Amino acid sequence: MNVMLPGSLSEALDTLASDGAAIPIAGGTDLLVHWPVHVEAHERTYVDLSRLDPLKPLGWTADELMLGGLTTYWDVIRDERAREELPLLVDAARQVGAIQIQARGTWAGNIVNASPAADGVPVLMAYDAVVVLESRRGREEVPLDRFYSGYKQMKRRPDQLVVGIRVPRRRYSYQVFEKVGARRAQAIAKVGLAITRSGAGWRVVAASVAPTIRRCPAVERLLETGTPIASPEALLPAIAQDVAPIDDIRSSAQYRTRVMARVLYHDLRDFWGKPG
Ligand SMILES: Cc1cc2nc3c(=O)[nH]c(=O)nc-3n(C[C@H](O)[C@H](O)[C@H](O)COP(=O)(O)OP(=O)(O)OC[C@H]3O[C@@H](n4cnc5c(N)ncnc54)[C@H](O)[C@@H]3O)c2cc1C
Repeated sequence: MNVMLPGSLSEALDTLASDGAAIPIAGGTDLLVHWPVHVEAHERTYVDLSRLDPLKPLGWTADELMLGGLTTYWDVIRDERAREELPLLVDAARQVGAIQIQARGTWAGNIVNASPAADGVPVLMAYDAVVVLESRRGREEVPLDRFYSGYKQMKRRPDQLVVGIRVPRRRYSYQVFEKVGARRAQAIAKVGLAITRSGAGWRVVAASVAPTIRRCPAVERLLETGTPIASPEALLPAIAQDVAPIDDIRSSAQYRTRVMARVLYHDLRDFWGKPG
């Protein structure tokens, strides 16, 4: 195992630019789990980001929250303003693994790991977060809802680091995060849902029901009409347009679809009819 320990962002970017197979490592909570299995990756160069202190803090401006490329779940959990203004970030962070994982795991690692069952990604997507990438070739920003193109496929080149995640500050009239798992802690989502409503409209983001975490435009359009929904079943046609669940060891596709409809219905039934 070849580990580089750059002391600056520019040194890290130089390494990624010169070695196209080099792998950034942040908290290591995804990468190292796969270590015993991914034997073929042992000879690659790992770029340990832990000394890049400028990427660690989160910061607030008048318009946005900026999470750093190394901001952890714990950093967000203990941020009072995040709890008040963007509570879904805190709700999701508290449901990631347990405290040890929350202290090491980063939001950027969650995004780049690209699990369809991730907990950080849905809430960031429901808040219209933007991924900030940097390489020797410059900076690039990609809205998170356009970041993934397929299972583990994303708009990040190997020479790019996620150096930040921009989260706009808005007034929300509705926001909720739901994680349905086999138990309350240390569980992978069978279905995840992040729902927000702001001046920008409804955002409904689903996890574990498609190859990537994704927004649900048909459900969002339905909610925009303000039409009361009579039952969970009435949501199924829109859900069917938006998601493509699979049968796997955790759940069947039918179960995931039905759970998504029920959770959506129960979350939103009191809301329909309320003026914006
Ligand atoms: C016991 C356990 C429980 C878990 N529970 C949950 C859970 O409940 N919910 C959940 O969503 N996840 C869970 N995870 C997965 C993991 O903790 C999260 O996905 C975490 O956010 C990963 O962050 P990290 O910093 O550890 O990433 P790493 O493991 O360091 O990296 C993950 C990927 O991101 C890349 N990467 C990391 N940082 C950057 C960067 N700045 N720029 C470019 N690429 C980068 C790495 O190269 C790698 O491909 C769990 C993991 C464990 C071991």
